[in-house]
Amino acid sequence: MGIATINPATGETIKTFEAESSGSIAQKLALAQQTFEQYRQTPMQQRAEWLNQAAEILERDKVSFGKIMTTEMGKTLKSAIAETEKCALVCRYYAEHAADFLADVAVSTDASKSFVRYQPLGLILAVMPWNFPFWQVFRFAAPALMAGNVGLLKHASNVPQCALAIAQIFREAGFPEGAFQTLLIGADQVASIINDARVKAATLTGSEAAGASLAATAGKQIKKTVLELGGSDPFIVLESADLEAAVTTAVTARMLNTGQSCIAAKRFIVVDAVADEFERRLVEKFQALKIGDPMDENTDVGPLATPGILKDLDELVQVCIKKGSKVLTGGQPLSDRPGNFYPPTILSDFPPGTPADEEEFFGPVALLFRVPDIDTAIARANASPFGLGASAWTTDEQEAQRLIDEVEAGAVFINGLVKSDPRLPFGGIKRSGYGRELGIQGIHEFVNIKTVWIK
Ligand code: NAP
Repeated sequence: MGIATINPATGETIKTFEAESSGSIAQKLALAQQTFEQYRQTPMQQRAEWLNQAAEILERDKVSFGKIMTTEMGKTLKSAIAETEKCALVCRYYAEHAADFLADVAVSTDASKSFVRYQPLGLILAVMPWNFPFWQVFRFAAPALMAGNVGLLKHASNVPQCALAIAQIFREAGFPEGAFQTLLIGADQVASIINDARVKAATLTGSEAAGASLAATAGKQIKKTVLELGGSDPFIVLESADLEAAVTTAVTARMLNTGQSCIAAKRFIVVDAVADEFERRLVEKFQALKIGDPMDENTDVGPLATPGILKDLDELVQVCIKKGSKVLTGGQPLSDRPGNFYPPTILSDFPPGTPADEEEFFGPVALLFRVPDIDTAIARANASPFGLGASAWTTDEQEAQRLIDEVEAGAVFINGLVKSDPRLPFGGIKRSGYGRELGIQGIHEFVNIKTVWIK
């Protein structure tokens, strides 16, 4: 598949794009470098004004930006509009706090004066996925631009109009043209950009395979990377939990973005004492969800983004079934309509060796595990190659402390849905990647942390 807008709800190809020529890429790299030399000198106050202006534009045109997202990758329009609003939030957050986050930090030593100074690195390449096509980009761009870096975006090939719209937002907001540019290129062109000496670092949000490939190229060039990769987040429910709140949140946590979210809850680990009731209510709520046109405001679950995502997901489901898993609801693509529709599905009973242990189910499929107690729940949660987020439900303080301490994840949410928030760092451990976005930690990823010592 080339670079194109293909409506996932209908299968219709709306627009195709030529990948950029090597001449055009060279021009953009040159412009980025030239811009960086000046942009790094712009006062923080000026950058903040531009970023606040970007927030204004996002809010002003949130419906039209939402429609671009829905048309290209199939999320419901209401969630696409909410995503645009969240992008405005992250812009305002860094516009307000970056000066504090990047201020010199005095440290007493044997010097008459010593301190830490944060300075920009230069051109940063961002390789981004289609699932939150605005949010993923803004959560990289807002801190990177405030820190004085310039950004180059290689977006996923199925969201080119999102990519172009985002570059236009920064331009209209007042940033110099070379401060943030979109490169319409395929994945096979990423390595040559990283190999360019002017590019100083890269961030990738996406699959393990893409992350490993980008990090290997960057590693050879000794360039910093941040990787935000897949997840198979556990959602642990213990006996003392508020069961109705847990089940309601479980549905939201699994169905967010038609299940195509790295931090969606994917493995529901429930203690025997409440498992029957949890299962009954979860099945009931999954079956009540309305599947359909993502532009319709009554739709809960839209199509998957591409036919390939649907095929990959269904293959995992069918392997589980073949190996003996039970289907509690769903379990087959919806073949009665065009588009990439898969029904909300719940699987349970996993004999050893099913993909439920190892793979990320990137779509509306919940995997239900029954366990006798908290020890087994934690062991089951940690028996995954991933370590992104975890949600755990208990009203017992000691149990909560154990979950916080023992679950292997970049984030643990007690009695709540795992979500990203500009104020809190976001990222994973194990095969979910490394580095952090958001919060003060996020803005420190792409800076030179310079030690200054004066006799
Ligand atoms: P993907 O295939 O890895 O694509 C992500 C981006 O990487 C796209 O821009 C893609 O370009 C590019 N890419 C693919 N192969 C590459 C390579 N070998 N070298 C350099 N770039 C490459 O991921 P996806 O399937 O679209 O997205 C879903 C994955 O992203 C899931 O695993 C999900 O969990 C993860 N994700 C993680 C987070 C997080 O914050 N941790 C957030 C969202 C999604 P093309 O489109 O041109 O192939």
